[in-house]
Amino acid sequence: MLDAFDHHLASLSKCEAFQYGEVAVIERRFNKLNHAARSIDSIYMNDTTRTATTRARKPLDRELEIALRKVFGFPNLRPGQDEVIRSVLDGNDTLAVMPTGAGKSLCYQLPALQLDGMTVVVSPLISLMRDQAVKLIEAGVATAVINSTLSTTEERAAMDAVTSGEIRILFVTPERLVNAEFTATLTGKNMPAVPLVVIDEAHCISQWGHDFRPAYVELIHAIRTLGRPPVLALTATATPSVIDDIVRELQMRRANVIHTGVYRDNLHFVVEQLTNPEEKRARAIELARTLEGSGIIYCATVAECEALHAALAEAEVSAERYHGKLAASARSEAQDAFMADEVRVMVATNAFGMGIDKPNIRFVLHAQVPGSLDAYYQEAGRAGRDGEPAKCILLFELKDKQVQQFFLGGRYPNAETIRRVGEAVRDLARENESQTLDKPLERLREALPHVGANKLRVAATLLNDMGVTRRTRRGGMKLIDDGKAITQLDNAAQAYASRAERDRAVLERMIGYAQSARCRWRMLLDYFASDAEYTRALEAASKAEVEYQAPDDELAGGTCGSCDNCLHPPEVTESPREVREHAMSQERSNDEAKPKRNVQAFNQGDRVRVRRYGEGTVEMVSGDRVAVRFPDDETRTFIARYVKRAA
Ligand SMILES: [Zn+2]
Repeated sequence: MLDAFDHHLASLSKCEAFQYGEVAVIERRFNKLNHAARSIDSIYMNDTTRTATTRARKPLDRELEIALRKVFGFPNLRPGQDEVIRSVLDGNDTLAVMPTGAGKSLCYQLPALQLDGMTVVVSPLISLMRDQAVKLIEAGVATAVINSTLSTTEERAAMDAVTSGEIRILFVTPERLVNAEFTATLTGKNMPAVPLVVIDEAHCISQWGHDFRPAYVELIHAIRTLGRPPVLALTATATPSVIDDIVRELQMRRANVIHTGVYRDNLHFVVEQLTNPEEKRARAIELARTLEGSGIIYCATVAECEALHAALAEAEVSAERYHGKLAASARSEAQDAFMADEVRVMVATNAFGMGIDKPNIRFVLHAQVPGSLDAYYQEAGRAGRDGEPAKCILLFELKDKQVQQFFLGGRYPNAETIRRVGEAVRDLARENESQTLDKPLERLREALPHVGANKLRVAATLLNDMGVTRRTRRGGMKLIDDGKAITQLDNAAQAYASRAERDRAVLERMIGYAQSARCRWRMLLDYFASDAEYTRALEAASKAEVEYQAPDDELAGGTCGSCDNCLHPPEVTESPREVREHAMSQERSNDEAKPKRNVQAFNQGDRVRVRRYGEGTVEMVSGDRVAVRFPDDETRTFIARYVKRAA
């Protein structure tokens, strides 16, 4: 058996061993590491009264330090890690919001070694599991990975290792953990207790989040089946409303929310205003050619991703592409080439990046505006993980907003869809004496082929939450009360309408960022500190037991000094007299309690006059800015109130 492991390890050290499905369980027991692991064991496992408790024995500080140094090779914990680890070891439900590079994984790895039993880590991406598992195994920690890419033999080997009780950390996908058969196995006779469930990339649970993953919503049922051990939810960025969602959907008890900040001073944010798709594509290519180092270019659609990739190839830029319509093998090839620095640029949709741990990405370019600042920060934040300077550039064209509006239209089931799903559940359940649907989602998909899988799942979860149906232990759907459905479905549809409303507000905030003259970091920090006005008003008082405290302002109310707006404040041609006049007119209108004097509205093509530059033509209007093209063929951007209509 050990030989087999060593064989796996030999291929592992050649670095490619974790090709999808190749390795089920790997265990590293090199002498030196084994020694370290044993000494850790002797520290933590000499308690002869080991029971399957969900509480950790209170570790001494020294013990934590030894584990940290010997197993993971770190001299100290970083700020925030300490607090999270202590909260977890105290048995609290914990939500840690930590920026990329703050060492999230150590926050569960260290406790996992302290706790009796097997810590289960839910991770959304197979590549992410694979990277984590390799590191742990190299550190001598018995680790198993179970996901859909394993062959039957590999999966059996992994399950054998799990049932043997030796595994300390088990990685699974959310889809696997919500599988009733799988949780039944984990809770079988003689199985080790699960003292902690870790939910990585926890923002995927939020239907308001940009990475919503339906299986996440069902995780709480699986966690309950496992005996409801403490939960540690981890995410890189989360606004208060997403935090509320995570806490509520996971039914966290007195959740300890630990926010360790979002500011990273090596990221330099820039927005470039462009007026049409051709111009934007040309600019993207120019930037890809001139910016140094490895970079990602995000597109909002598969079509744009393909087009830009082709254009880059023509411009002889070393680039790969990645999106959901490519075959899995093509995606993993592209990803591997990018990770190994065989290609310099990755053109991708938002399907690419979650869990991508590439430290030396020097720029992240957005060729189209994403749907929210959460998504934007998450994607842009993949730059500069090594702490070296990196650029985050958004190429903004106001028309791109329409693309995002289109996406918003298809996200939630409407009243009609919810009603149809409710009726289908009722009709199908009645065919059965037990009033239960086995494999409910498959059955519903057959019955309602025109309803998208995501909407179907959201609607099915909704029926469950409303008490119309109940989940059975085997993953079936039992009809409880179809009378309720009729009276309450409209309310539910209303709730989704509010969510759609909120999504639109979130998109407006993203557009506001793109059009603003303020410090970009200032806007990001303000957004993550409080999106209150966009959420609380729209959502009824949260049932979650959570005390949310806004994080400290990492710039202490100041500006970053390194974004485009800090370095080059928007061009204005303002004479001292104009400043005075403007201030006076503002005061006057305030005194008369009139609505603030509206800035003159301009349209594309309008002839306008700007002091210093003379007459020109409006190319684009974006928020309070107007781009004007002058006879010298230069386009300059002004704050609208300094632009006058030409006589
Ligand atoms: Zn700034």
